[in-house]
Amino acid sequence: MAIWDSLDSEFAALDAAGLRRRRRTIDERHGAEVVIDGRRVINFCANDYLGLADHPALVEAAIAGAKGWGMGAGASHLVSGHFAAHEHAERRLAEFVGCDAALLFSTGYMVNSGIVAALVGRGDAVFADRLNHASLVDGSLLSRADLRRYPHGDIATLERMLAESSAPRKLILTDSVFSMDGDIAPLPALFALAERFDAWLVVDDAHGFGVLGPQGRGALQHYGIRSPRVLYVGTLGKAAGVYGAFVAGATQVVEWLMQKARTYIFTTGAPPLLAETICAAIDLIEAGDGRRAHVAELVARLRSGLDHPERLMASTTPIQPVLVGANDAAVALAAQLFEDGLWVPAIRPPTVPAGTARLRVSLSAAHTVEQVDALAVSINRRLVP
Ligand SMILES: *Cc1c(COP(=O)(O)O)cnc(C)c1O
Repeated sequence: MAIWDSLDSEFAALDAAGLRRRRRTIDERHGAEVVIDGRRVINFCANDYLGLADHPALVEAAIAGAKGWGMGAGASHLVSGHFAAHEHAERRLAEFVGCDAALLFSTGYMVNSGIVAALVGRGDAVFADRLNHASLVDGSLLSRADLRRYPHGDIATLERMLAESSAPRKLILTDSVFSMDGDIAPLPALFALAERFDAWLVVDDAHGFGVLGPQGRGALQHYGIRSPRVLYVGTLGKAAGVYGAFVAGATQVVEWLMQKARTYIFTTGAPPLLAETICAAIDLIEAGDGRRAHVAELVARLRSGLDHPERLMASTTPIQPVLVGANDAAVALAAQLFEDGLWVPAIRPPTVPAGTARLRVSLSAAHTVEQVDALAVSINRRLVP
């Protein structure tokens, strides 16, 4: 038996459990419609909430950025890979979300897997919502701090955990908008606990940046929270329609992350053309009240158009899960919708708790009212109560 032969049985186990993942290849993109295997379908899977991913202004900014800066950054930011384009984007991002300073990373996964260990370590404690994104879990594990997970949104349990903890440094970690449920974290209550127990509060606003708050300035501005103990994580591959991510906060704290976050230090800087494109995306987000109003209208339209509103979750965001229950039923329903020309992902355990397999509908300003109505009609016809 060679070392790779054991993979055969591992794959067989995945196949038997129906958990083997496969990719669908998009051959063409036309706004919210894509061509897959020669068929045109409406994409309800993407996190492109404002419909900016193929916006001509972003394409132009990328072209101009490539012409001005070339392609690669050539080195890490701390060596020689930090360009005026990055510097400008960081200042623009910090100002936009209402923080003193920001640090650009290549991805949100890298921000989250790097910043926790920069703030806490062995002997300290991280308090994390049980439904947090995997990258926050990984960042906590890498920090070697004691990871305590509290039930989703359960402020009372979190309060008790904090009161019982004797860790010298504490950090509260939460998504702002939860990616599989679409609900919003009780940030004011979390912030009050962070103040009371002298803890850091890290807010991952991957699904809120560009969507929540005045002019899409994100979850902190939505609640008017500003404090040196709060770190804001925004990602730029979702509503911003580009790629990359950033952490923002007080100047001294951000400077500390630059010194210590390994996923910032030991990696090549993102192409400066991306930083140029990110600035163009912030302009579009800032001027995007029309797009946000349209997507809010689509959310209301879908929620009122479904015959089984009890299947919906308590979400006001563009993430609109439709509960199905059994894994097979969710997968079968997604396959039927695809036949109808509607591409919606089925989400199963372990991504969500057992028995809560669901369709995860992501709405976008790129969708039309007619497309969302077609989705509601199809779900109503196909979903067996
Ligand atoms: C998508 C996502 C990330 C990761 O961001 P990337 O830039 O895609 O790596 C982090 N946190 C949450 C909640 C996300 O949904």
